[in-house]
Amino acid sequence: MSKTIIAGPCSVESQAQLREVTLALKAMPEVSTIRAGVWKPRTRPGAFEGLGEPALGWMRDLSAELGVHYCCEVARPEHVELCLQYGIDTLWLGARTTTNPFMVDELCQALRGSSAHLLVKNPVCPDVRLWIGALERLHKAGIGHLTAVHRGFSMYNNHGYRNAPLWEVAMELRREHPELPILCDPSHMGGSADLIAPLARAAHQLDYDGLMVEVHPHPADALTDAPQQITPQTLAAVIADWATAPHPSSATNAAQALEPLRRKIDDIDHELVSLLSQRMAVSKRIASVKRDAHLPVYQQARWADVVNDRLHQATALGLDADFTKDLLEKIHAESVRVQLED
Ligand code: PEP
Ligand code: MN
Repeated sequence: MSKTIIAGPCSVESQAQLREVTLALKAMPEVSTIRAGVWKPRTRPGAFEGLGEPALGWMRDLSAELGVHYCCEVARPEHVELCLQYGIDTLWLGARTTTNPFMVDELCQALRGSSAHLLVKNPVCPDVRLWIGALERLHKAGIGHLTAVHRGFSMYNNHGYRNAPLWEVAMELRREHPELPILCDPSHMGGSADLIAPLARAAHQLDYDGLMVEVHPHPADALTDAPQQITPQTLAAVIADWATAPHPSSATNAAQALEPLRRKIDDIDHELVSLLSQRMAVSKRIASVKRDAHLPVYQQARWADVVNDRLHQATALGLDADFTKDLLEKIHAESVRVQLED
């Protein structure tokens, strides 16, 4: 299996914890790099915020003793300087950092001239431009070794995940940058230990280049992200499950069966696009009637009726209600835009 697996604790909590998890992960040949957070971005003040520089010293010493390779999150230029000083040259940008171009720029300044490998988590919000922007800034700063990490997005409704996967956002990144390796972080995506294996499998099906997983020797005692951390033994089971999961490339004989179905999808999509265009044309005619009658474009009661009617129809046809509502909202927003611009 030529996948990259990065695993390790959310945070370094003590020298003993780091040694214990490092020894367990060193025994797993699939794990290429050990992640270990030293500065932790916490949502609320007062929580454990990481051990800082002393932890980097332990990482340097264990690297020298055991020949392991660590990576660490950086959010400030001084984090970059300290990591490089301690010989840690695989670094990651957290979701909150990728969101902020000022912070990314500052990190680029600190990284200039280094040969660091940068892992870039997706931004907190589902904006693929911010993700691409951070990667491009690093590329322009001369960072030649870049990897994207998909950890999901913070949404009002996360549908049971800590951060909604929204796989399509990562697929869009891949469409624009097919050369860029992409890892899945099922830990921050799922937020719970039992979601790691199914999310890892989903990432495998989408041909991700690997995983970044939070692994703790005693997850229940973890000082950060306890519900989502798994033991090294569980990681071994996740990897074993992964190795047996059918991979897309093994499905070559499915191509023949897929072909006619894909043509059907093409036809339906063409019909959908044509219908949407017709719908927008009617919207424009409605706009002129409303304008002449001095009626506002947005009609709350009519919109409520449309949603109820279409949801009723969708449910009867076996379509997911949330999906249908999202789609209707998108179409309605475009219709309002078209009418306002007319
Ligand atoms: C982490 O990896 O521990 C972390 C804080 O991740 P994210 O930036 O994805 O929230
Ligand atoms: Mn974490």
